[in-house]
Amino acid sequence: MTIAVTLLGTGSPMPDPNRAGPATLISAGEGDAAEHYLVDAGRGVLMRLAAAMVGAPNLTAVLITHLHSDHITDLNDVITTRWVMTFEQTPLTIVGPVGTQKVVDHILASLEPDINYRIAHHQDLDYQPPVNVIEVTEGVIELPDGQGGQVTITCGQTDHKPVEPSVGYRFDFGGASVVAAGDTVPCEGLDTLCAGADAIVHTVIRKDIIANIPMQRMQDTLDYHSSPAEAAQTAAKADLATLILTHYVPAMPMSGTEDDWRALAAEHFGGAIEIGDDLHRVVVPPRP
Ligand SMILES: [Zn+2]
Ligand SMILES: [Zn+2]
Repeated sequence: MTIAVTLLGTGSPMPDPNRAGPATLISAGEGDAAEHYLVDAGRGVLMRLAAAMVGAPNLTAVLITHLHSDHITDLNDVITTRWVMTFEQTPLTIVGPVGTQKVVDHILASLEPDINYRIAHHQDLDYQPPVNVIEVTEGVIELPDGQGGQVTITCGQTDHKPVEPSVGYRFDFGGASVVAAGDTVPCEGLDTLCAGADAIVHTVIRKDIIANIPMQRMQDTLDYHSSPAEAAQTAAKADLATLILTHYVPAMPMSGTEDDWRALAAEHFGGAIEIGDDLHRVVVPPRP
């Protein structure tokens, strides 16, 4: 009864040949009985999911933390691929903050020619992509009947202002609990989600480096993201066992500088600190 966290995309808005855009896979349970939750759907998400041996049809639900483009770039690909790769109507549930329904409606509108081509061409595909949006603010999320059921998912408000609203998610399964923070500065909503959890997946930027780049557009990113130290403080406050860092800004070379990032977090957090390339996988066991 473990939860596995796979960092599908550890990149950021800046295109990187080695790092896909922000996306994390939360898998609960084993084999065919496993539930797979995709948190955010950045650039290249389905390529990384394929590498993790999970296809769009296998997703139990997609959960969006906020509507920044880099976190939803490939949501259209998830919708289309789910639709054409399943052979019966298999609704895709997309959970997200208020505003998600409008974005999904526009994505579907942009796909209208493609949807019409495929419906006209494939005799057995005679329905629109069945997409079901649930907008959330906080509290336990109820998925439609037949979807999920083994994992309790809780949502909480985060602070990524002026991007509003933004949310984080907590996944509880068999005594193990993982929080996916998304982009946020330390805040009460995140602390509440973390209370009693085991691990957190937190996006980070190196403020010590960005602050020295004389470019206003980079400086603007300082006030609404957490540094490794701030993410570590959030993890320490809740006494979590594991801190998983992702969304590396500036992009981390494929290897060599992880230790710098880890050291910055370790000054504030005594638990395990996980940093890695795309497809890095962390197993979170139940609490003893
Ligand atoms: Zn963001
Ligand atoms: Zn981001």
